[in-house]
Amino acid sequence: KNCYRMVILGSTKVGKSAIVSRFLNGRFDEQYTPTIEDFHRKVYNIKGDVYQLDILDTSGNHPFPAMRRLSILTGDVFLLVFSLDNRDSFQEVQRLKRQIYETKMCLKNKIKENIDVPLVICGNKGDREFHREVQQEEIEQLVAGDEKCAYFEISAKRNENVDKMFQTLFTLAKLP
Ligand code: GDP
Ligand code: MG
Repeated sequence: KNCYRMVILGSTKVGKSAIVSRFLNGRFDEQYTPTIEDFHRKVYNIKGDVYQLDILDTSGNHPFPAMRRLSILTGDVFLLVFSLDNRDSFQEVQRLKRQIYETKMCLKNKIKENIDVPLVICGNKGDREFHREVQQEEIEQLVAGDEKCAYFEISAKRNENVDKMFQTLFTLAKLP
C-alpha cells in the first residue's frame, strides 16, 4: 500500500490546523482562521518508492454526522486533538475515540480486542499550563490498554513534541 489517509478530529479551536501547519510548513499563526475542511497531500520518495500521505483537517463542528462517519471509514490513521485548557474538548476526544472504534468494528465485524486502529491522542496548548483543565490520570485512563493508541502533550505554538508525535503516529501505522 502506497497511499495513507490521516484524519484529524477534535473540537474547534483546539489547534488542529496549527498542528498541521507546524508539521507541513514549520509555521505558527496566533490568529484564528476557521476551517471548513482542508485537504493536504504530502508525497515522499523513499529509496525510489513513492508514498502519498493525505491529511484531512476537519472543522470540529459537525452538522453532518454522515460526513464524519465517512471520514472515519476512509481514514487509516487518526489524530485526535484536545486542548489541555478546555475540559469539553477532552470529553469530545473521549467520544470520538469510541466512535472510531465502533465504526471500524462494524466494518471489520470484529470484537473490540482485535481492532487496531492507529490513533494518537494529542493534548495541545501545553504552553498554557496555568489554565490546565485536564489531569494526567484521566488521560492515562483513556489511552490505557489499547496497543495502537498513544498520547502526547504538545504545543504547536512552541513547537514542543510535534515532530515526535507525528513520528509515533507513523510508527503505529507502519508507514515507511
Ligand atoms: P482548530 O480549530 O482546531 O483548527 O484550531 P486552530 O489551529 O485554528 O487554532 C485555534 C487558536 O488556538 C488559534 O488562535 C491558534 O493560534 C491557537 N493555538 C493553536 N495551537 C496553540 C498552542 O499550542 N498554544 C497556544 N497558546 N495557542 C495555540
Ligand atoms: Mg482548523
